[in-house]
Amino acid sequence: MIPPSHPRYRSLITRERLARCAQKGIVTPEGLAAHGRGEAFDYLIGERTTDSACIAERTAAALLKSARHPVISVNGNTAALAASEISSLQKASGALVEVNLFHRTEKRVQQIEHLLCEAGADVFSGESERLLPLHHDRAWCRRGGIFSADVVLVPLEDGDRCEALVGMGKTVVAIDLNPLSRTARTASLTIVDELTRALPQITHACYGLSKNEGIDLIASLDNHYLLTDAIREMTMRLSHALD
Ligand code: ATP
Repeated sequence: MIPPSHPRYRSLITRERLARCAQKGIVTPEGLAAHGRGEAFDYLIGERTTDSACIAERTAAALLKSARHPVISVNGNTAALAASEISSLQKASGALVEVNLFHRTEKRVQQIEHLLCEAGADVFSGESERLLPLHHDRAWCRRGGIFSADVVLVPLEDGDRCEALVGMGKTVVAIDLNPLSRTARTASLTIVDELTRALPQITHACYGLSKNEGIDLIASLDNHYLLTDAIREMTMRLSHALD
């Protein structure tokens, strides 16, 4: 029997939650596959927040706090895993919360917005338009939301959309356990940590960061270093895996 404090116990509870959300249509089958990939990388990194991820989380807080128009983009997996963490981060950062889906139907958008509202988030909804330079449904967003944002937090993003947002001149903060993904390598800042560990850390930093620390963190942002360090952590763990 796995004790409730063990990370593996939490991952079993998470799977059950995702499975329930998949039955309701909030999470897609593709979303379940993406979660499995995340779990594998989390295993490699030791199911913990590394020191470099902690720096990335504080830098994310600094970027959100100093933004003119920060937006948190939420997909089905993010809402299923972390609706209340998104709501807390919104309160701490003042960011807009907007739903943006790869597999987009009006019903799914409404279900996910409802889940977020139930968790206390103030969801930016209304008329969407095809505003991003993409062929698939992730091109849809709101003119007053993601389209005009200067900083966008994209937990669990796909590479194409991350690239499109960066190409539009936005500062893109990704949360992705895979340091090799296109998203991780394209984003302005990548937090290589599990979503439900990362979001509360960003929220906590939003309340605790001084203005000067924020300026220093943004000035020293080096995404290549953050990704290299995540790979180093994984390699170290693998090389001692059987000790
Ligand atoms: P890309 O298009 O960026 O090359 P991909 O094809 O792997 O990457 P997706 O299938 O959209 O993109 O997967 C989303 C990413 O999210 C994966 O890299 C996965 O490792 C990561 N991921 C999944 N679940 C979590 C989680 N709970 N926390 C953090 N990262 C996660």
